[in-house]
Parts: sequence; C-alpha cells; structure tokens
Amino acid sequence: MKRTLFNEDHEAFREAVAEYTTRTLVPRHEQFIAQHGFDRDIWLEAGKQGLLGLEVPEEYGGGAAGDYRFNAVLGEELAKVSAAFSSCFGIHFDVCAPYLVELTTEEQKKRWLPRFCSGEMITAIGMTEPSGGSDLAALRTTAVKDGSDWIIDGSKTFITNGYTADLVIVAARTSPEKRAKGITLFALEEGMPGFTRGRKLDKVGQPESDTAELFFEGVRVPAENVIGEIDRGFIHMMERLPQERIGSAVSNIAHAAQILVETLQYVKDRKAFGQSVGSFQHNKFLLADLVTRVEVTQAYVDQAVEAHNRGELSAVDAAKAKWWSAEVQNSVLDHCVQLHGGYGFMNEYRVARAWQDARVTKIWAGSNEIMKEIIGRDLGL
Ligand SMILES: Cc1cc2nc3c(=O)[nH]c(=O)nc-3n(C[C@H](O)[C@H](O)[C@H](O)COP(=O)(O)OP(=O)(O)OC[C@H]3O[C@@H](n4cnc5c(N)ncnc54)[C@H](O)[C@@H]3O)c2cc1C
Repeated sequence: MKRTLFNEDHEAFREAVAEYTTRTLVPRHEQFIAQHGFDRDIWLEAGKQGLLGLEVPEEYGGGAAGDYRFNAVLGEELAKVSAAFSSCFGIHFDVCAPYLVELTTEEQKKRWLPRFCSGEMITAIGMTEPSGGSDLAALRTTAVKDGSDWIIDGSKTFITNGYTADLVIVAARTSPEKRAKGITLFALEEGMPGFTRGRKLDKVGQPESDTAELFFEGVRVPAENVIGEIDRGFIHMMERLPQERIGSAVSNIAHAAQILVETLQYVKDRKAFGQSVGSFQHNKFLLADLVTRVEVTQAYVDQAVEAHNRGELSAVDAAKAKWWSAEVQNSVLDHCVQLHGGYGFMNEYRVARAWQDARVTKIWAGSNEIMKEIIGRDLGL
C-alpha cells in the first residue's frame, strides 16, 4: 500500500540521507564491523549534512525541523543499511536530543548543542546497570551532594556509543529513600576524573556499534551539569521513552522491509529443481505472508509516528508499536535466512548479519515483556 505519512520535503530529505549513507557508510561498513565502532569523521560528515540536529533550534546550529517525520526518515534510511547505524545515530539525534533540548538551561544549550549538531560531541544515555535495566527505579548509581557539586559512584552497562561518547546522560540516585522519585540526570563528560570506560562489549549482533560499560568512581560533577530537575530524572526519562520506542519501531520495520526486498530478489534468482526457489508454492505463500505482515505493521507504526508528531502518542501505543515491530522484524528475518539456505548462515550475506542484529530489538529500550506489562496495566489488569 502507498504510505501517506511523508510529503515531498520528507522524500527530498530521504534522498539526501541516502546519498550520505551510500557515500559515507556503505563503503566502510566492513571496516566498522572489524573495528567494532565507527570513525569520528562519519559523525562530522553527518553533522555537516545537517543530520544530527533535527530537533535542535537553529540558533544552536540545529535544523529545527519541528516535525518528527524527518527523524523517522533518517532512522529508516540508516536501518536500511544496518540496524547498528540506526541505533548509534538514533541514540544521538533521536534519544539524547530531547533531553538536551528540552531540559537544559540556556547556558547548557550554548555549551553543548552546537557541538552536538556538528558531530564534534557524540552522546549516549546511561540508564541500565549491571544489576538491572527493566526495573529502572531500582538503579544503584549514587550522586551525593558535596558543596555545589555532586559526587557520582556506580556503573552502567550495555551503553550504546558508550565507548566514544563525549557526553553521557547518566541517571543516578540522589534520594536513596525515594526510589523512582529520587533519581536525577547528570551530564558526565569525557575527561572528568574517575569516569572510565570498560571494554567494548562482544555482542552476538551489531558488531559495528560500540556498546560499553561505564564506571564512575568519585566523579565530581558540577551543578551546571545537572540535566532537568533534581529528583525528577525518572519522570524525565518516562516522558521521553515513547519517542525512543517509536524510533525503535521505525527502524525495526524499515530494517526488516529492506532485507525482505533483497530476499525477494534472491529467491527469484536462486534455482532448485530447475525453477526459482521463490516459485515453489510454499515459499510463494510464505513471502505473501511476510510482505503482508510488514505492510500491516508499517501502517501501525506510521500511525504512531503521526500521533507522536501531533504530540499525542501515548506510552501504551508506543509500547505496542515497539514490541510488535520487534517481533515481526525477528520473525521476518528468520524466514529470510531460511529462504537463503546455507548462504543465509554466512556472515558475508547481509541477511545473516541482519538476523543477528535484530535479536536485541526485543530486549533493549524496554524488553517485550516490559512493553506488554505497560499495555496490560492499561487494560486494568
Ligand atoms: C546492544 C544493547 C544496547 C543497549 N543500549 C543501551 C543504552 O544505550 N542505554 C541504556 O541505558 N541501556 C541500554 N541497553 C540496555 C537495555 O535497555 C536492557 O538490556 C533492557 O532494558 C533489559 O534490562 P536487563 O538487560 O537488565 O534485563 P533484566 O531487567 O534483568 O530482565 C531479564 C529478563 O526478565 C524480564 N523481566 C524483567 N522484569 C519483568 C517483569 N516485570 N515481567 C516480566 N518479565 C520481566 C525481561 O523482559 C528480561 O527478559 C542496551 C542493551 C543492549 C543489549
């Protein structure tokens, strides 16, 4: 079905993003996979193309798009190349941006946003800890007041862009007795004494993204690096998680749709028993099923993007879009591997990598179980 979400401006932007990914990311993809991370110039080039500051006001170097559909286009085009590109850039332009634009003081905006937009400052967000990610209110990293500064102790894990980030938004406990109501967000910056990174984590998919552990040992953070209100960090995160989840859903379905298109071509070309493998009735029906599943899911995700653009996307609907798209993505890609036969299990084939890359989408940004918990609660259960 023809999608009705985008207009000519979005499609022109899509072309510009596709030009960037084709010229800058695709030729060096294998290199980034081998080195488990991107080179800095990739970020700088994205900054030059105006891709990083879509949500940032013009006075701080951003594009001030004021339209979430541009974020969606960017997420889709990156996901078509690799789920990891979409994730790493997405954490910066789609997940961290709202914190740094909406919750910051004028002084902080001037200090951080121009470099955020240019790609000179890469960002990450640290919520998850080794002791747990789903139960965010139970986080253990502490921030204790010392004069006007805060002293931060603890650790985070599985942090996307964690190894290279210049600024990490860190959730820490400021009021031990208050659980969710005792969490504050801090900007920890590269070079702060006591702030160290562990190894780049060895993942089963998305090898090109840097995912790291972060350690904080008596890190002195000035009051000027508090983001938002003291003890309101949990609310700040809850208010912004729907955007993170709809961003994930956009990428999930774009990623699956792209590999499905490539698989369709493969099954037309590949022969067995004297005919193309796609022409066996079993496979023809299977592909009809997969194409339908992707299109139906796309329609729901598009509706959610529209709702978010109007400022009306609920946490519940974002949760539905996120878990469902992750489920469809994973099942579609599993079938795509099967349709490729043995080649589907070879890392040199995009389908094999895509299948590995997709597994995490049922876990991160709130696992599928947590998404269903949110939906179930809304049902009064
Ligand atoms: C590659 C990667 C990148 C990531 N990037 C980031 C990042 O940039 N920043 C960040 O902060 N985090 C990041 N994460 C962390 C991610 O968000 C967490 O892994 C996720 O929220 C789950 O937390 P956990 O791993 O601690 O699992 P747990 O919370 O220990 O959960 C374990 C299992 O129990 C289930 N479970 C938990 N509670 C319930 C419940 N109430 N009902 C039913 N089942 C339940 C979970 O669904 C899961 O299946 C990333 C993770 C990965 C793998």
